[in-house]
Amino acid sequence: MITRISHITYYIDIKSAYVQYMGCNFHCPWCIRKLTPWDHHLSNNELTRLRFQGLLSTDEFLGIINDAIAKYGLEEAVLGGEEPTIDPALPMIIKELSNRKLRIRLLTNAYEINNELLNELKLCGDCEVIIGIKTLDPKKHIKYTGKPLEPVLRNTGRLLESGIKVIFETVLIPGLNDINDIEEIAKYLAGIAKDPTLIIDPLIPIPGTPWRRPTQEELNDAMSRVGRYVRVMTHEKIGRSSRVVVLYPRL
Ligand code: SF4
Repeated sequence: MITRISHITYYIDIKSAYVQYMGCNFHCPWCIRKLTPWDHHLSNNELTRLRFQGLLSTDEFLGIINDAIAKYGLEEAVLGGEEPTIDPALPMIIKELSNRKLRIRLLTNAYEINNELLNELKLCGDCEVIIGIKTLDPKKHIKYTGKPLEPVLRNTGRLLESGIKVIFETVLIPGLNDINDIEEIAKYLAGIAKDPTLIIDPLIPIPGTPWRRPTQEELNDAMSRVGRYVRVMTHEKIGRSSRVVVLYPRL
């Protein structure tokens, strides 16, 4: 079976593989994938050497994972890049990774969570779902992502009710999803989840779009206001810096 996995990087110091999917059911204008289809933590030297070598089959993917366990002592798989839930193989991939006793972190916009995926997440020994909330404004949501907000909120509720570990992420975008908007997201999450965690990412601007990167002061302000309602983090403070190698495509 062919997956939607196009790229895998490995973070040696934290024993974590970043499994990257190609394609998304949203089309956010600020999507970092518009800058590069590859993991943007790679050096420019490596980025220029990478060439697309096709989507992996499930057998090829599991072969790479087995090799990474044997060679590096892989402990965690982060499923992200673009949108993993568009891949019909995702429930089977989660099952196989879970059978290998790996920690799994699924990054998703939560627009499509089918029952098979929900059941696999419920069975998974150590799975965490990170839901990207783009905006809570239904008009902005459909304008910028091309899809309605309601399924995202409904699926968030289904994941929480199923007892699956969920944390949330949003992007601070001055003029689109700014500090007041993020405060509203935090209040909303505090109303639906027990002790929710919200990661706030500063926007990395995409050329040709009107939004700028927030200042450090704005990011700090957002974090302190939101901290009244949720546990708050930024990726800058999560400290995932590590040496990175490419597992696929093969160089
Ligand atoms: S949901 Fe994420 S991957 Fe999809 S277009 Fe938006 S930012 Fe990009």
